[in-house]
This record gives sequence, structure tokens and C-alpha cells, in this order.
Amino acid sequence: MNLAGRILAAASFAAEKHKNQKRKGSDAQPYINHPLEVASLLANVGKIDDADVIIAGILHDTVEDCGVSYEEIGELFGRRVAGYVREVTDDKSLPKAERKRLQVEHSPHLSHGAKQVKLADKISNIRDVTENPPADWSVERRREYVEWGEEVVAGLRGVNGKLERLFDDVVARAKGSLEMSEPPAVAGG
Ligand code: NDP
Ligand code: ZN
Repeated sequence: MNLAGRILAAASFAAEKHKNQKRKGSDAQPYINHPLEVASLLANVGKIDDADVIIAGILHDTVEDCGVSYEEIGELFGRRVAGYVREVTDDKSLPKAERKRLQVEHSPHLSHGAKQVKLADKISNIRDVTENPPADWSVERRREYVEWGEEVVAGLRGVNGKLERLFDDVVARAKGSLEMSEPPAVAGG
């Protein structure tokens, strides 16, 4: 299969798997918008031309959220793709706080490809928390989410300067809109 064919097959597969899911934002976008955004960030901001990394971006939530197996991903898209998806998938049998702690602990040890997928995922989610947050999330909860994302990304740095710069911009914007920035120094005080 050619490159465009593989990428479109992954997009089509993920769209089918996520078809009954919506994002948590108040405008309830179709879930597939998020993995497509992640893949677009990898290709167009990160300038990654490794199709396996881009395809892993498209498929990154299909195991965690849709019960797809790594075996199926391996058969359809190859073992490298399945490996990246495995690296970025949380163990849902663990309590949420533990899963969040493990993401921080594991991020420095991921492969180069998986680190880039995770970085793009955090960019997309923090952007959503800023521009399109879940309706029932307090400012405090959004702030905690952004701070946790920063902790995870601290362990991912050094793999893709372009994605890291965009992450920093998105966090700065998030903090500005959540009024998390330090108050400006009073001139002449
Ligand atoms: P969740 O794990 O419940 O939700 C965030 C995840 O949902 C994202 O990582 C993303 O994952 C997915 N998602 C889908 N739609 C959106 C969207 N529009 N915006 C953002 N994410 C979306 O959040 P947490 O439990 O992490 O809560 C955030 C913080 O708030 C935590 O640090 C927690 O400690 C704290 N908290 C505070 C509470 C409070 O009332 N103050 C209550 C509970 C938690 P994916 O990429 O997989 O789609
Ligand atoms: Zn995701």
C-alpha cells in the first residue's frame, strides 16, 4: 500500500472505531477530530515524515477508548505502529490518579517516536482545555490539567523542537486565559 493509502486507511479505521464518541468540550465535537489533529501536528508542525509515527498518532486512542487490540493494529498497520500505540496507552485497570502519576514517571523512558506522539497529544488536549473545555470543569480543574501536562512533557523534551515550542506557546496561552500567569510587576513601585 502506498503512503497516502496507509494514512487514509488508518484515518478511516479510527473514524469507524470512534464513531459513537464525542470530545468532552461543550461543543461536543466528533472524537475523531482529536486524533486527526494529533497526526496533523506531527506531520505539519513536527515535520515528521515517518508514516509509522503519523499513523500511531491517528490510532493513539483506539486501544484505550475503543477496545481495539494491539494484535489487530499490528496486523493492519505493522508492529512498529502497534508498539508506539502500546507505549502511549494507559492501563485502564489502574485508578485514575495512579495512571496520571505513571504518565509522568514513564514519559522520559518512551521511544523517540512515542514521545513525539505524546507531545502532540498534550498540545491538542491543552488547547482543548483552553479553547473548548468540558462545561463542568472549574478553572481550578483546568489549571491542574495544564500543570500535569507540563510535568508529563518535561520528560518528553529533546525529541522535536518545533512541537516543544508549540507546546510552550499553547501552555502560555492556556495560563493567560486561566489567569495562571504571575501578576505583572508594579512599575516604579
Ligand atoms: P480527565 O482525564 O477526566 O479528562 C482529560 C482527558 O479527556 C484528556 O487527557 C483527553 O484525553 C480527554 N478529552 C476529551 N475531550 C477533551 C476536552 N475537550 N478537553 C480536554 N480533554 C479532553 O481529566 P483529569 O481527571 O486529568 O482532570 C484534570 C485535573 O483535574 C487532574 O489533574 C485532576 O487531579 C483534577 N481533578 C479535579 C477535580 C476537581 O473537581 N477540582 C475533579 C477531578 C480531577 P484523550 O487524549 O485520551 O482523549
Ligand atoms: Zn489523545
